[in-house]
Amino acid sequence: MTALVWYRNDLRAQDHQALSAALGSKQPVRAVYLLSPGQWDRHQVAPIRRWYVLASLHELGETLGKLGIPLDILPCDTFDEAPAVLAAYCRDRQIRALFCTREYPLNELRRDRAVADTLRPLGIELQGFDDAVIIPPRALKTGQGTPYTVFTPYRRRWDECLAEAPPSLPPAPKKPAGVAPVTFDARALDAQIRLLDLPDTLTGLWQPGEKAAQKQLQQFADDRLADYRRDRDFPALPGTSLLSTALSAGTVSPARCVTLARAVQRAGSKAGGKEGATTWLSEIAWRDFYRQIMANFPHLAWGAPFRPETGYVQWSRDEQLFQAWCEGRTGYPLVDAAMRQLNSTGWMHNRLRMVSAMFLSKNLFIDWRWGESYFMQQLIDGDFAANNGGWQWSASTGTDAAPYFRVFSPIRQSERFDPDGTFIRQQVPALRDLPGKQIHQPWKAPLLAPDYPAPVVSLEGVRDRVTAAFKAAKNIHDSAGGASR
Ligand SMILES: Cc1cc2nc3c(=O)[nH]c(=O)nc-3n(C[C@H](O)[C@H](O)[C@H](O)COP(=O)(O)OP(=O)(O)OC[C@H]3O[C@@H](n4cnc5c(N)ncnc54)[C@H](O)[C@@H]3O)c2cc1C
Repeated sequence: MTALVWYRNDLRAQDHQALSAALGSKQPVRAVYLLSPGQWDRHQVAPIRRWYVLASLHELGETLGKLGIPLDILPCDTFDEAPAVLAAYCRDRQIRALFCTREYPLNELRRDRAVADTLRPLGIELQGFDDAVIIPPRALKTGQGTPYTVFTPYRRRWDECLAEAPPSLPPAPKKPAGVAPVTFDARALDAQIRLLDLPDTLTGLWQPGEKAAQKQLQQFADDRLADYRRDRDFPALPGTSLLSTALSAGTVSPARCVTLARAVQRAGSKAGGKEGATTWLSEIAWRDFYRQIMANFPHLAWGAPFRPETGYVQWSRDEQLFQAWCEGRTGYPLVDAAMRQLNSTGWMHNRLRMVSAMFLSKNLFIDWRWGESYFMQQLIDGDFAANNGGWQWSASTGTDAAPYFRVFSPIRQSERFDPDGTFIRQQVPALRDLPGKQIHQPWKAPLLAPDYPAPVVSLEGVRDRVTAAFKAAKNIHDSAGGASR
């Protein structure tokens, strides 16, 4: 009899509770990954993210092989096929127990339910572990017994739980005595990587796999965490951890991140170390917060806004303006620099995600779902809960979102967070020669940037227009008796 670990977005061997439980069951252990390009298409997974996952799996297969655990890559085009694919595999290999890390988006929950229902009659229980998060999504409730929808009290409770029961890291996996190492067959992965055909200039920017993620975390904790609070909003600085890709694909565990950050917080060895670590822990709490929002409000997976009244907002569907935004041709330097960073690297700084998302949803007044979907198609760290949460925050349709009358000025944001234009100059060559502060408003010196577009919209009166549109939506909602749209 054999125990099986079903890998999904948890592509590591260290700090992995499901693997640890499988090894602890004292049965021979195997592992599988279901390769689902059709599901990736349905979920609009970016090519660079697919590459990261495939390349990380390559390393994982070799790591597990050294532990004597064969990792099989099974073709399974969409989630619908997962129950049959796994049932056939379990029958062939005499699997008696199946272990996995729990996932919370709606389609993943449905997939896992269908797999569990199919395997139960075969005598196989699906055992899930919650180490994709620090606190499981349904564990924390307000005094009224409802899920938290406001971050600050959630964070407070999250902190209390962390203090009472810090995350525990399972022991490093060991090759059981008498088990021989196995060779990993990477042909299926290599074939998929070849199909993606991504340029080395793009993939060379990223280091896939668990080893690189662990190293990156350690370096961040040693060198930059102490200054995180000061530096994190400036895209020209290496102020943030860049760990979102590793966290979303599970090449590093949130428990490991929190354990290291808490150690820095306690030691407070470097000036500001405590504040830096505390602020960074807040970001990990935001990650959990949006995951529990998604798990407790599954209608978000259908493209619905969190606030029902905002379902009546008449968003613009101007495809030309949308295209200008996607391509970084809006005429607003920081927005364009942000979009060019996304398009050329697959990643965007958090400050810029807020600025560009708010520009699309407030200044261009284009449906935030268009932006959400464009981000998913480009991001190496594309993650439904964080992306949806970030977009609904920016568009003021979400839980604990920016109020609708709050509109970032792309000029002011540029002056504050890229004051000398270093980041803009890196991303937008047409603006490289603009002197000093003119970088923020190139239309004032058109002769110095002849190849840069004029602004596609004026900033005048935006706040009034957005306010009127949200009020109109609320009126329609109220007159429809509060019905969701
Ligand atoms: C419109 C919009 C879309 C976004 N889409 C995604 C997405 O698809 N995937 C994604 O991982 N993050 C997303 N974020 C959140 C955030 O921008 C990124 O997590 C962050 O920029 C990643 O950089 P980092 O790893 O250096 O972050 P750090 O600043 O080092 O933060 C550490 C970790 O905390 C988590 N985190 C940080 N900020 C947030 C946040 N606001 N919400 C949830 N988790 C957070 C991430 O896992 C991150 O790696 C989005 C934010 C916005 C405003």
